[in-house]
Formats: sequence, structure tokens, C-alpha cells
Amino acid sequence: MKRLSKVRLIIMAHPDDPELACGGSIARWAEKDEVYYIIVSSGEKGTWDRNVLPFKVAKKREEEALEAAQFLGVKKVIFLRHADGEIQSVKTIKIEIAALIRRLKPHTIVTHDPWRRQFHPDHRASGFAVIDAIMIARDWHFYPFLKEVGLAPHRSEELLLTPTDNPTFINDISTTFGKKLQAIRIHKSQLEQLPDWERRIKEMTETVGKSSGFKYGEGFYQMRI
Ligand SMILES: [Zn+2]
Repeated sequence: MKRLSKVRLIIMAHPDDPELACGGSIARWAEKDEVYYIIVSSGEKGTWDRNVLPFKVAKKREEEALEAAQFLGVKKVIFLRHADGEIQSVKTIKIEIAALIRRLKPHTIVTHDPWRRQFHPDHRASGFAVIDAIMIARDWHFYPFLKEVGLAPHRSEELLLTPTDNPTFINDISTTFGKKLQAIRIHKSQLEQLPDWERRIKEMTETVGKSSGFKYGEGFYQMRI
């Protein structure tokens, strides 16, 4: 029998990225689908406080990520715990993600658009690692040890890249916009570093939504796999 709900897998570099990028869509998907997060780095460098120890920042941010995910209805958050700012130098990430794709068997995978004009090297590196991982997860002859540990190939159906400079799919988040704001607010340790975030998120989602006739929207670059 065909499953009615879909598995949606959100793979982002840092603990607050899912909610900032697409918290309204996650809240909508979680109403009927199974949503999972993979967070590549716990973001231990994400503070302006010179006197705090990075591992304490990571612990706090993981707690915030779990709370925000639970608030949105996400089933599970998987932390890969790679060093913040160094994701591009870790060669195993694509294999780690491929193994988890084979295990969770997502219909939809969501990650950063690595081709977007942006500063953060972790966002680019995570986006590219996920795209590489989709191939490894899908094709039979990549990394034969995966089959030996019980992880058969899995082909996901769609990849959604966000944030993106070129949205091709706008998701209507008018009913869950409030939840997106509330989920971002849970990342208390980050709000000081996101000056004026509430107004900026409102403006951005209004602008993106307007192009498709929605009050609020989130934009994705959609690729069929
Ligand atoms: Zn980030």
C-alpha cells in the first residue's frame, strides 16, 4: 500500500537555519508529513560574547534547535556535530548524509542553495554536500559498504534549495507565518546577532508571497531528481 504521508528531510548547516529559511513550510508539511532535520554543525562559533566557551554555545544551540523543531512538529533532529565554519574541509559529510538519506527514505530533501550569492562558507558547503549525497544515496555502485550495513539505494523525488536567488516554487505560508516567527524566537542565543529580524522576515516573506498572490510565502529552487 502506498503511504499517504511523505517524508521530508531538511538538511541545514546550523541550528537556526531551518526556521529562518523555511519555518513556515516546515510547519505546514508537519501537519501531514513526517519531517526530519539533519543539522551539520551545532554552531559553536555563533556568538558575539568573547568570554563564553564554544562548547557551551553548541549545547545551548542544540537545545534551542530541539525546542524549535518540536514546536513545529518535527519528528527527529539529527546532529552531525562538525566544526562551525569548517564544513567544506570535512570529506565524510556527503557519505554521512547519503547513509541517512538511505535510512530515512525522504520524498523531498531541502537544503541551502549553494549557487546563491552568500557569505557563509558552511551554507555553500552543506548545499554541495547534500547534492553529492543524493547521487550516492541513489546509485547502486557508490560505497558498497552501505549495502553491507543494510542501507539499500534510495531515490528521492525532489530537491528544494532555499534560500535562493531564483525561486521556481513559492510555498504559501500565510497560515503558518506566526509559527515561523515563534520558532525563530526560540533561538534566543541568536536573536542579538539578527538585528531587526522580525521586520526583515516579514518583508521578505511578503515580497516572495506577493509574486504568487499569497500574503506570506517562502521561495525554493525546485529540482527533480
Ligand atoms: Zn547558518
